[in-house]
Amino acid sequence: MRFQSTRDGRLTAGFSEALMQGLSPDGGLYVPAQWPVIEPAALKGAEGLAQLAERLIGPFAAGDALAEALGQISAEAFNFPAPVLPLEGERLAVLELFHGPTAAFKDFGARFLAACLTRLRAGQSRPLTILVATSGDTGGAVAAAFHGRPGIEVVVLFPKGLVSPTQQQQLTCWGGNVRSYAVRGTFDDCQRMVKQAFLDEQLRRTRALSSANSINLGRLLPQAVYYAATSLALAASGGEPVSFIIPSGNLGNAAACIWARKLGLPIGEVVLAHNANRTVPEFLADGHWRPRPSIATLASAMDVGNPSNMERLRALYPDIEQLRAAVSACSVEDEAIRARIVEDYRRLGRIWCPHTAVAAEAYARLPQARRRSGRWVLVATAHPGKFREIIEPLIGRKVPLPPALAALFARASQYREIDADLGALRTALADGAA
Ligand SMILES: *Cc1c(COP(=O)(O)O)cnc(C)c1O
Repeated sequence: MRFQSTRDGRLTAGFSEALMQGLSPDGGLYVPAQWPVIEPAALKGAEGLAQLAERLIGPFAAGDALAEALGQISAEAFNFPAPVLPLEGERLAVLELFHGPTAAFKDFGARFLAACLTRLRAGQSRPLTILVATSGDTGGAVAAAFHGRPGIEVVVLFPKGLVSPTQQQQLTCWGGNVRSYAVRGTFDDCQRMVKQAFLDEQLRRTRALSSANSINLGRLLPQAVYYAATSLALAASGGEPVSFIIPSGNLGNAAACIWARKLGLPIGEVVLAHNANRTVPEFLADGHWRPRPSIATLASAMDVGNPSNMERLRALYPDIEQLRAAVSACSVEDEAIRARIVEDYRRLGRIWCPHTAVAAEAYARLPQARRRSGRWVLVATAHPGKFREIIEPLIGRKVPLPPALAALFARASQYREIDADLGALRTALADGAA
C-alpha cells in the first residue's frame, strides 16, 4: 500500500519509507493513497488490542518489509490495556489511555514506532539519532519507548525550568541510549534547534537523524486501534454508533479516530475538545484558518496554535461544509478546567488530568438532545498523577502516582544544561556521554 503527501499527491512512499521519513519531502503529511476496505466483522473476533492492531494496520503494511513482523510489533506496542469504564449509566463511558509506561496515550504510538524503527535499522552500522524537542509529554513517551533499543539513540531537548518537576523526572531518568538536555531557552528554542539540526550539512554527514514527531504515520495508525476496540465493544452491546470527545492539540489522536471511522468502524460524532488555543474551533465557525503562537494553559500538552494534523483532516474533507459535518469543536478556558476537575471529583469521585477535564467540560456543554442521542465516550489522555502539581490544590488531597510512573521516580535523574543554539547542540551530540 502507498501513502501520498497531503500537498503534492505525486510524492508517495511505502509504509516503512513513510515511517523513516516522518514528513514527506515537500513538507506535507502522509495519508493513504487509497483507503483499504476493512469489514468490522473481520475485526470482531480479535482477542485483545495487539491482535486487533495486527488486523487493522495489516492492510496499510501490505507488501511492505515490516508486514511479516506486524504481529510481533503489535504485541510489543500493545502490552498494556485501554479499559472503557462506565461513567453515568449506559450513555457515558471513559476510555482510559493512560496505563502505559509514561501514563499518557502517546505511549501507544511511541511504542509502535519504536518497534518498527528498531527492525528497520537492524544491521546498520551507524546508530539512528532521534531528536525530540518537548514541552513535557512527548519526550517522556518517546524516551521510554526507545530506551534500551539497539541501534537507536534518543536526544531529548526540553526548556530549562519550564516543565513541571513530575515531567522533568520522566525526561531525565533514562540514561543508557537516552540523553536529556535542559536548554537555556523556551520550547520554541528547542524546536528551532531540532529543525536547524535536520538542515545542518555537517550533522547530516556524520549521523542518521530522525524525529519521532506526532505527525509520523507510525504514531498515528496505532492510535486508531483503541477507537476500533472501543466502538466495536460498545456498539455490540448497544447497537448504535459510539461518539467520542477527544482532548485535542495537534489533532493526532483525533485524526486517528476519524481514520477509524473512515475504515468502517461504528463511530458516530467526533468532538474536538480544545483548551484556550482556539485555532480549530474558530476555523470550523468562520472558515478562516488563522494559525498563531500557542498560549500556555493548564492542559499544556494541548498548547498548539497551528495544529499540524489539520492537513490530514482537510485532505479527507477538502470542503469546509464536509469538515463541519465530520467533526465539531469547542474551546475550554483554564477557569472552566479547574471548575470541572473540582465538580467531577465531588459528583463522580473521578480525578481528571487537565486534558481529560477539557473533554469532560465539552461533554457537559453539549445540548441535552445531543447527549441523549447515543452513546458517548470521554477520552482520558493522561493519568492525573502526571499533573499532581495542578490537581492536588484543587481537590485538596494527594493524587497517587500510577505504578509505572512511581517506578520512574525511583530512578536517578541525569541531564546536562546547554545554550539555546545549534552550536551547543552540535557539541552535545559529538560528546556522546550525558
Ligand atoms: C499530546 C496530548 C494531547 C493532545 O493530543 P494531539 O494528538 O496532539 O491532539 C492531549 N492530552 C495529552 C495528555 C497529551 O499528552
